[in-house]
Amino acid sequence: MEREIVYQKNRVEIVRVTPNLYFRRGDMPARRQSNGAFLISGEVVAAVDATTMEAAEEMMAEALEVFGHPLRYVFLTHGDGDYVAGLPVFLEQPLTIFCSHRLLGQVVPEGYDGPATFLGIEGVQTLWLGGLEVELSTVPIAAHSPRDLLIRVIRDECVVAGDTGVSLDHLYFHAADPVEWARLLRDMDARGGRAILPGHGDIYPWSHWKEVADFIDLLVRAGNECLKGLTEGEAAALDDDKSTQLASGYLAGPGADAKTIRDTAGASAERELRMVIQALVRKRTGAKA
Ligand SMILES: [Zn+2]
Repeated sequence: MEREIVYQKNRVEIVRVTPNLYFRRGDMPARRQSNGAFLISGEVVAAVDATTMEAAEEMMAEALEVFGHPLRYVFLTHGDGDYVAGLPVFLEQPLTIFCSHRLLGQVVPEGYDGPATFLGIEGVQTLWLGGLEVELSTVPIAAHSPRDLLIRVIRDECVVAGDTGVSLDHLYFHAADPVEWARLLRDMDARGGRAILPGHGDIYPWSHWKEVADFIDLLVRAGNECLKGLTEGEAAALDDDKSTQLASGYLAGPGADAKTIRDTAGASAERELRMVIQALVRKRTGAKA
């Protein structure tokens, strides 16, 4: 589907998804900016994520230049560096910042007394941004991370997904629960909808949830296969090098799953399988990411 690019500057593109929802495509290789988004309702302008200091400055300027009103609200999809590094800029502004309740401890500086207000979300909450109904939901245990927040624009049937719905070669499991993550994606898929706005990659059709879930399931199957011969103690003692060895050994094998993982994730295949192996060990041992 052709979508109108309404703004292009600083290697950033702002793309109209619906009259209420805009995708902010960042240039990761050149400027370290993950993607973001804008939600618009009348005079209310909300931004999603604060990927770098420069990006946060730019998003405030873009709110005025592209949408004609100052930024009032910010949503944070999770707490990885490439989504919150620009927060110091927003902390100096009279903004209301929504995030998972589990992220508050990380993003609100100790003793913070500035003009921004933080609101933590737990479970599913509906917010009316002017006349626009927005559903905010956290994850029960963890998906991409325990601190994920999904932002669904109800009328438009679109979700701003952060890293929960990214491209298949950009899956990160450093704080993930892959089993719970795939389950969440299948629930999202079952609800139906139109478009997914990811933190990395391009705007996806709704079927992308299932594609990601299927691929994570495949990685989990492969990861369990890698861990099969190990005792509890050996699994708990796996460091980065040993996990990488397990992953590369598996991927070098002749199995159909190994081939699918190689073909799908390309240069990221070994990293993704290694991280899933580590996530599965964390899940078994109850270790915190
Ligand atoms: Zn992330």
